[in-house]
Amino acid sequence: MQSEALFDFLPVSSSSEETSGENHAAERRSSFPKETPEAIFLRVFRVLRPRTPPPPIRVHFCDFANANSFIQLKHGEIDARITDILESAPGDILEALAFILLSKLYRRPVPKDHSYRYRRHLAAKDVRARIASVRQSRGRKELADPAGAHYNLVEVFEEVNTRYFHGLMARPQLGWSLRVSRQTLGHYDPSHHAIILSRILDSPNAPRLAVAFVMYHEMLHIRFPAEHRAGRRCVHTPLFKAEERRFEGFAEAKAMLKAL
Ligand SMILES: [Zn+2]
Repeated sequence: MQSEALFDFLPVSSSSEETSGENHAAERRSSFPKETPEAIFLRVFRVLRPRTPPPPIRVHFCDFANANSFIQLKHGEIDARITDILESAPGDILEALAFILLSKLYRRPVPKDHSYRYRRHLAAKDVRARIASVRQSRGRKELADPAGAHYNLVEVFEEVNTRYFHGLMARPQLGWSLRVSRQTLGHYDPSHHAIILSRILDSPNAPRLAVAFVMYHEMLHIRFPAEHRAGRRCVHTPLFKAEERRFEGFAEAKAMLKAL
């Protein structure tokens, strides 16, 4: 059995004026410096269900076709998939979203202050602009040369291609992200047929095995195109996960990424 809660972005009212939205965002950012999205969800879980041992929680940022976030409880794990529009959102906004999603998952009323805070963030000028541009066409892909300082993504791609795909996968656009993201180590953008790896991996601290694993994961997204259900993409199906575990050094690579 699995239950799934869907949370749609509330429509952004054009009448809400946020003249100082950016300043507030900057203040908030500094007050939550290091907490990972998983840690935020875990903390919120403990508030909502203090007597229940928390299940493993995974948080993914996905390039949804429209701007939605989802949560489900599956095989005893909480899996939250959040629109990548919120990837760089301040910690307290992710916290508000964690309250909203976890409340929905456990069929509880959403605390008003959190839904207000979340809506207010979406209504801020800069966020509104980002949502609009994503809706248009997910914007122009911003990615840098695949030849990084430490790894060349063309080489990594071809290595993985040879080893796991018989060299048969046509090379998509490849690039390092412009931003150094710790939350999203890689993603596949179907609208641009591009694999983008976080620049954080272009470093001597990132073992080659770990970089190859992220590349392999993104290549599996090409191999198993996302199913479109309720307008969402980025589905890690059981088949996808089984294929992912075929990666030689799977556990080792995952541990390396965790340690980054
Ligand atoms: Zn994925």
